[in-house]
Amino acid sequence: MGAIVAIVGRPNVGKSTFFNRLIQRREAIVDAVSGVTRDRHYGKSDWNGKEFSLIDTGGYVVGSDDVFEQEIDKQVELAIDEADAIIFMVDVESGVTGMDEDVSKLLRKVDKPVFLAVNKVDNAQREADAVEFYALGLGNYYTLSSINGSGTGDLLDALVKVLPDAEEEESELPRFAVVGRPNAGKSSFINALIGEERYIVTDIAGTTRDSIDTKYNRFGFEFNLVDTAGIRRKAKVKEDLEFYSVMRSVRAIEHADVCILLLDATRGFDGQVQNIFWLAQRNNKGIVILVNKWDLVEKETNSVRDYTAKIKEVIAPFDDVPILFISVLTKQRIFKAIETAVEVYKNRSKKVVTRKLNDIMLPIIEHTPPPAYKGKYVKIKFCTQLPTPYPQFAFFCNLPQYVRDPYKRFLENKLREHFDFSGVPITIFMRKK
Ligand code: GDP
Ligand code: GDP
Repeated sequence: MGAIVAIVGRPNVGKSTFFNRLIQRREAIVDAVSGVTRDRHYGKSDWNGKEFSLIDTGGYVVGSDDVFEQEIDKQVELAIDEADAIIFMVDVESGVTGMDEDVSKLLRKVDKPVFLAVNKVDNAQREADAVEFYALGLGNYYTLSSINGSGTGDLLDALVKVLPDAEEEESELPRFAVVGRPNAGKSSFINALIGEERYIVTDIAGTTRDSIDTKYNRFGFEFNLVDTAGIRRKAKVKEDLEFYSVMRSVRAIEHADVCILLLDATRGFDGQVQNIFWLAQRNNKGIVILVNKWDLVEKETNSVRDYTAKIKEVIAPFDDVPILFISVLTKQRIFKAIETAVEVYKNRSKKVVTRKLNDIMLPIIEHTPPPAYKGKYVKIKFCTQLPTPYPQFAFFCNLPQYVRDPYKRFLENKLREHFDFSGVPITIFMRKK
């Protein structure tokens, strides 16, 4: 549940170049392994040991500059609502533009930290040119070159200093966030569970709630249900734009233990649903997929099987995730859905005793050891689950750097076979012993 940092600014100032530089180290590796193309405008970064999520808001706007001009106010407002800090990027090559002034006007009113980043300062002459950005009335600025990396360290030093610490958790109760695209049925789902129409929210001016939580008790298990549809209403944004649904989902997902991902069966597990799914997965959250509006689908013998297979194909290799077919309208399986979410929560907090873990894993490893690498043999001596809020395992061996990802996946699959981690991402580390 790190902090959220939004990068705003007009097109071509270098936002995505900067964004890629920051997230590259981590995400490039993940993507190369899984071969999955992911949402390139949201990623995790860290600096001086502090982790944060980075959102390149400009990345969500497709179309011409004109379109952007109309959208920018809404974008900046949403960034202000949802982010902990804002990086406002401008371009020294073009100097101050009208659009920069418009954005500044919005940002001057904000009481969140705003960092003015003057980009494309590739040399000393441009350093001098940057002074004109004082005119934006945002105070001091940071000069940087996203292309060669100079200056980015100073900006990041200042940025992480103001970010809230990761570990301050507001609620002791488990948090289940109901996420998905607009119209998937999220509010209806929550209404059906709660049994009253309290989710027809009116816009209350000036409310700053992040999301709408309801304490809920079922099967003797108490948790907070987090409604992300409520966030949309708060932001008064009606458009069905990817940017908005991602922005809305990020915070809710980061603060959740389990994400209940609803989709409209008639629309399918499309790109936007996938983005939300990967957002949850990358944050190591528990996940339950609910295919809603199943009442609208004309069913044949294999409908459920085929639909499930299609989703699993898309989410592979992380396909050990419960998929339920529900109808909020007819209340079909909605309580089963909650029961499953509770199971996933328990899987995520499960701690496997070291002794039992080794009793099961070591014979498997002995039978199928890691392949020799450059003529060297890797010997895994023992393993343990780390005391983290979600499942992470360390395998101790002589040559950790020689264990490749396919073998780690093999280990993960064996862990999943023997211990129920359904719906929960697992991380595996090889450590030197
Ligand atoms: P965005 O639209 O704000 O995301 O901008 P991009 O990251 O796509 O960059 C727009 C253009 O500016 C690209 O051609 C980049 O190569 C270039 N650019 C980005 N950062 C720098 C920089 O630090 N110096 C220079 N000279 N060019 C840059
Ligand atoms: P949200 O934007 O995700 O909160 O979606 P809503 O809860 O507002 O629902 C969007 C629309 O889908 C509403 O008209 C609901 O009545 C309808 N809806 C929700 N669940 C179902 C369902 O299971 N079956 C059918 N047929 N319609 C549903």
